[in-house]
Amino acid sequence: MKNSIQIAIDGPAAAGKSTIAKLAAEELGFTYIDTGAMYRAITYKALERHIDLENEEALTNLLLETKIELIPSHDGQLVYLDGENVSEAIRSTLVTSSVSAVAVHASLREEMVSRQLKMAESGGVVMDGRDIGTHVLVDAELKVFMSATVDERAKRRQLDNERRGIVSHVDQLKKEIAERDKMDSERQASPLIQAKDAIYLDTTNLTINEAANHIIQLAKERMS
Ligand code: C5P
Repeated sequence: MKNSIQIAIDGPAAAGKSTIAKLAAEELGFTYIDTGAMYRAITYKALERHIDLENEEALTNLLLETKIELIPSHDGQLVYLDGENVSEAIRSTLVTSSVSAVAVHASLREEMVSRQLKMAESGGVVMDGRDIGTHVLVDAELKVFMSATVDERAKRRQLDNERRGIVSHVDQLKKEIAERDKMDSERQASPLIQAKDAIYLDTTNLTINEAANHIIQLAKERMS
């Protein structure tokens, strides 16, 4: 019986990956790593500094001099950028609509992947993102590709926004989610794609607990 494995969770925007992955990690006593937060953090810094989001070299250099920390807390995972808590700021509409343009750059991704591999070095880990099963944790014992219909994902994102005091409209969210998925899936560098050895999990009709329990069950099978 192994007591720790690597779990890679990928899927399109707003599929519930973070919430579900965090719950599963808590239950298994594993470290949860939200890689999307890392891409959001560097996007936030680039926007603050008015850096051209098409300038791969400038963005990669910016990342090389940037510290991004993911710290677990009772209120979820906190994100620190050069020592500043940006957990809320990186969820803004502007960051959300800009992050996919930053994530296309191969050299920036290379640096992100090397940091993610270091974070995953110790013990059991649940990592979520877009390229985890295909490029980051390629030997993960469990890979899950999680999705839900665009309608459902937009509804979930709207509820999420509501909780954070942001008013949004489902139709607009559907458009934004579809645009982000298109950019993430069509980019050259490690596009969003289901790994050959990943299990597909449709969460459209599942509650958060049901989806998390499904992953916990699969993880336990892999550990035994
Ligand atoms: O998961 P989240 O929606 O916060 O991710 C934000 C964006 O970061 C994605 O739309 C994608 O462009 C990028 N991303 C990525 N690779 C990852 C995680 C996120 O390209 N592993």
